[in-house]
Amino acid sequence: MRNNYDVIVIGAGPAGMMAAITAASKKFSVLVIEQKKQAGSKILVTGKGRCNITNDSDVPDVMKNVMTNPSFLYSALYAFPPSKIIEYFNSIGVETVTERGRRVFPKSNKAIDVRDALVTQLQKNKADIIKLNKAVDAVRGNDGFFYVTVCDEFNVTDTYGCINLIIATGGMTYQSTGSDGSGYGIAQKLGHSITEVKGALTGLLTKEKWVAETMGLTLKNVSLTVTKDDKPLYKEQGELLFTHFGISGPIVLTASRYLLDTDYKNCKAIIDIKPALDEQTLYKRITADMEKNASKKYANSLDALLPKSLIPIIVKQSGINPEKISNQISKDEKRSLVKLLKNFTITVKSGMDINDAIVTKGGIPVDEINPSTMESKLCKHVFFAGEIIDCDALTGGYNLTIAFSTGFLAGDSVYL
Ligand SMILES: Cc1cc2nc3c(=O)[nH]c(=O)nc-3n(C[C@H](O)[C@H](O)[C@H](O)COP(=O)(O)OP(=O)(O)OC[C@H]3O[C@@H](n4cnc5c(N)ncnc54)[C@H](O)[C@@H]3O)c2cc1C
Repeated sequence: MRNNYDVIVIGAGPAGMMAAITAASKKFSVLVIEQKKQAGSKILVTGKGRCNITNDSDVPDVMKNVMTNPSFLYSALYAFPPSKIIEYFNSIGVETVTERGRRVFPKSNKAIDVRDALVTQLQKNKADIIKLNKAVDAVRGNDGFFYVTVCDEFNVTDTYGCINLIIATGGMTYQSTGSDGSGYGIAQKLGHSITEVKGALTGLLTKEKWVAETMGLTLKNVSLTVTKDDKPLYKEQGELLFTHFGISGPIVLTASRYLLDTDYKNCKAIIDIKPALDEQTLYKRITADMEKNASKKYANSLDALLPKSLIPIIVKQSGINPEKISNQISKDEKRSLVKLLKNFTITVKSGMDINDAIVTKGGIPVDEINPSTMESKLCKHVFFAGEIIDCDALTGGYNLTIAFSTGFLAGDSVYL
């Protein structure tokens, strides 16, 4: 392997691999430096192992889902919009399907196919890659070259030179996948600053311990209202998941992003378990169910109304004697059950640690990067791509879209 390259990319995540493939396809010599044993470790955990590659929307719609610095991404998104991302993956053997909310997945439902296809393209375009090597330093020599020092698992160091340096080291979430924030230090040494880094898109920790009993339960179409001091802060309808620590799932992740600067003191998550039914209709529905199960115990008469694992919790919180025979349940008891199902309340303690977040808010400030090229405004021939940049988006395939689009633009913009 040679030691000098036209381009060195630090980080073989989606952004770094896309940057490397794009630069190598233009016949630049490219080296990718990756600290983990394999490229794209984080891709493997995306979309619950299915990888929501992008969102089949036009650029303005993508930008509406970017929470931090959407306009900075204008050129990158137009250079490599979702339509081109989809076309690209289909062209490299990853057939895609578009699901609810225009979310695009590999038809195989396997994130590993996305990762492997990118690795194959690196090889096809003759980009070199060294794994299990952490970039620990990058300096510009008097000759104008950048010298990147890497350190392997045995603490042996080596140095590689390059004309263009693309930093695509990701953010600070799921650090076991390699995104440990070490790219920030490299950027800082090259003169960059870092905006405050926070975990965005996290589940919510709840006070109630019973949530663990329902772990894994997904409520597909519920309405969530998060309140603070009894005032509503956020309301959304969609899918909610119970976990061992509290609640998660798309609407909770989105709520956490809007509540990123909230201290969560006196916060409650109020779930309308039956948003499609108003109170009167729900009362009638419960009455019909009780009549159908007239001789059954109350605790055994809710099967058609609620998912199995939620029933004991609802029964307990309703205060109705579970042994009571269904046709003996009073009107008042049914009314209180309606109230409970429409206002099922959980106490929110906090968001989660940055390591458990889906994406990082913060990073390289966008005013230090040229949006048309991804080149640093402070240090010529240095480029940034992906989550290291202070841009983050909601769930739906938008964060990988940012990674692919900025990666493409950075790789397309390197020059000699
Ligand atoms: C659980 C989970 C699910 C997600 N699901 C989705 C989804 O379905 N759709 C979506 O759009 N987004 C999803 N995301 C977000 C998305 O995965 C990230 O935004 C995206 O991976 C960022 O890409 P990146 O290339 O910038 O960084 P990363 O994917 O973090 O890659 C950075 C790479 O750089 C390497 N690296 C870091 N520092 C160094 C160093 N000093 N030297 C050498 N190598 C280094 C790391 O090992 C890593 O391989 C999910 C995130 C998580 C955590």
